[in-house]
Amino acid sequence: MMGIRLHNSATRAKEDFVPIDASNVRMYVCGPTVYDRAHIGNARPVVVFDTLYRLLRHVYGEAHVTYVRNFTDVDDKINATAQARKAAGDARPLEALIRERTEETIGWYHADMDALGALRPKIEPRATDYIGQMVAMIAGLIAGGHAYAKEGHVLFRVRSYAEYGRLSGRSVDDMIAGARVEVAPFKEDPMDFVLWKPSDADLPGWESPWGRGRPGWHIECSAMAHELLGAEFDIHGGGLDLQFPHHENEIAQSCCAGHGFARVWMHNEMLQVEGKKMSKSLGNFFTVRDLLEKGVPGEVIRIVFLGTHYGKPMDWTAEKAAQAEATLRKWRGLVAGIDPAPTPLPGVVAALSDDLNTAGALAECHAAAGRGDYAGLLASARVMGLLTEEMGEWARGVDLSGLAAKLSTLREAAKASKDFAPVDALKSALLAAGVEVRMSKDGVELMPGAGFDATKLEAL
Ligand SMILES: [Zn+2]
Repeated sequence: MMGIRLHNSATRAKEDFVPIDASNVRMYVCGPTVYDRAHIGNARPVVVFDTLYRLLRHVYGEAHVTYVRNFTDVDDKINATAQARKAAGDARPLEALIRERTEETIGWYHADMDALGALRPKIEPRATDYIGQMVAMIAGLIAGGHAYAKEGHVLFRVRSYAEYGRLSGRSVDDMIAGARVEVAPFKEDPMDFVLWKPSDADLPGWESPWGRGRPGWHIECSAMAHELLGAEFDIHGGGLDLQFPHHENEIAQSCCAGHGFARVWMHNEMLQVEGKKMSKSLGNFFTVRDLLEKGVPGEVIRIVFLGTHYGKPMDWTAEKAAQAEATLRKWRGLVAGIDPAPTPLPGVVAALSDDLNTAGALAECHAAAGRGDYAGLLASARVMGLLTEEMGEWARGVDLSGLAAKLSTLREAAKASKDFAPVDALKSALLAAGVEVRMSKDGVELMPGAGFDATKLEAL
């Protein structure tokens, strides 16, 4: 079996991946806070870790990989939306309004990530279903001297964990200097972070030894990972923006609770748009849904993402999307009616196994297309979640039969009149729209080719 090597953020080295239990490879990835549509930057870790999930399933078997990704459904932004709906006259209790907001957002998230060809993780826990485990973990941290309760809050005592900052390579003092740490009267030290906070009557809350309240964000992942994957598991993933403080805090909580936690930490770099950081003020901020509604197929978004190694910043550009669309149309044309090879190309599996070198794997696919190995191309693309049947609707969605009939009629007329100008005009227009035109004595055949642009067909 070909070995997988992964870059471990915790050791800053590429290491052989050796699962704790090859019959149950376990991965946890931090999921979304469900208060709004996911923007395209949020989709990058979804595609990255979905590709890793597919590789692990390929190597260890589908039944032997457990992938957990949470939904954070307790958050001030969710509360704010629910409170706004209540203020606007909705008479239902706040809990119902919060549930409604999280339900609709989870529905959007599923629809958008399904469109990118991301498999649903095996378990998608909601934080609010694990409050009991969080309370138990917090109580244990207090008993061990790693946390303290004050004024309805429970704080993690960062100075009690000597390894704090190791994942991100910072000292506690550097972090205090560089981070926007909140100073509060109930904190012993500005670096201490919230495990539990009080909820007043118009906020969701649960009873606890420290009064009615709600958990801090970081404790959710520690409690759910422990409950669902055990004290020690294989891979923990997330965006680089989560490394500090979120992942640093997860490690501190879990290790001080006596768990081994994750062996391999993986972080994807951030996404930019047309060379600039995404921001609402620059007008380059958009959601996955915005792109899909503009007619950019989910499969195109996915292959653009896979074109850049996850450890490097990735730049989303309209030009890349257009090129990717042409590639996928071409590949889909080549593999039409072909059965996939029984196994993906060794070169593709080797590239993916080398710290998820997706760009290298795509280069192998291009090479297979070039030498006519369409069965190998299809099997290999599918390992990366591309050229799947369920993703192909967009490429099938063009009906060129009307134009083919029109061209055929014009040709028949031209044979009689000897004036081929109308035939040539239509043929040129079709070629300009990226349509491949094949004319033989048997008839006319049209199919979308590289650079196909359906909008150019409207006038024909
Ligand atoms: Zn997390």
